[in-house]
Amino acid sequence: MAEDEGAESYLFKIVIIGDSGVGKSNLLSRYSRNEFNPNSRATIGVEFQTQSLTIDGREVKAQIWDTAGQERFRAVTSAYYRGAVGALLVYDVTRSATFDSVDRWLQELNTHSDSTVARMLIGNKCDLGEIRAVSTEDGKNLAESEGLFFMETSALDSTNVKTAFEMVIKEIYNRVS
Ligand code: GDP
Ligand code: MG
Repeated sequence: MAEDEGAESYLFKIVIIGDSGVGKSNLLSRYSRNEFNPNSRATIGVEFQTQSLTIDGREVKAQIWDTAGQERFRAVTSAYYRGAVGALLVYDVTRSATFDSVDRWLQELNTHSDSTVARMLIGNKCDLGEIRAVSTEDGKNLAESEGLFFMETSALDSTNVKTAFEMVIKEIYNRVS
C-alpha cells in the first residue's frame, strides 16, 4: 500500500477467534478505543477496527477483525480468515471449556490460513484470579507445544492488552519487512 509521499506503509489483517463470551470484543474495544463494556452481548455492525502504529519509522495499520457472534453457532466463515496474517486465539481463564476449545480453533485456523500466520494464545479475564480455572502454567505449556506466543490479559483492567496486540503486530512486521 503506497501512501503519502511514497513512504512505504503496511496493512495487516488480524483475526480474533475463540469461544463466545471469552472477551474478544472487549479486548478489541479496549485496545482500539480504551473502552470496556461490562454487559456486551450485542455486537455492533462493525467488522473490524483499524489501529495505526509506527514501527522503525514506518506506518503500520492493523486491521483487527472481530466476529459478529457467529462463533456461538460454530460458523465462522472462511471469509473471516481470508488474508489474515495474524490471529489472536482467546480463552477465558475462568472457564476450562473455553481452554479445551483451543485445539478446535487451531484446527479451524489451520484449515483457513497458512502456517505463516502469526499466532498468539490469550488467556483473558486474568483479573478474576479468585475464580480462575486454568493455570498460567497450562496456558504456557499449550502455547509452547503449539508454537504460539502466549499472554494473559484483562480487558477489564487493561493488563497486557496493548502488549499482546503489539507483540503480534511487531511479529508480523518482522516477518514481512
Ligand atoms: P466475546 O463473546 O468473546 O466477544 O466476549 P465479550 O467481549 O462480549 O465479553 C463477554 C463478557 O465477558 C462480557 O460480559 C464482558 O464484560 C466480560 N469480559 C470481557 N473481558 C473481560 C475481562 O478481562 N475481565 C472480566 N472480568 N470480564 C470480562
Ligand atoms: Mg464478541
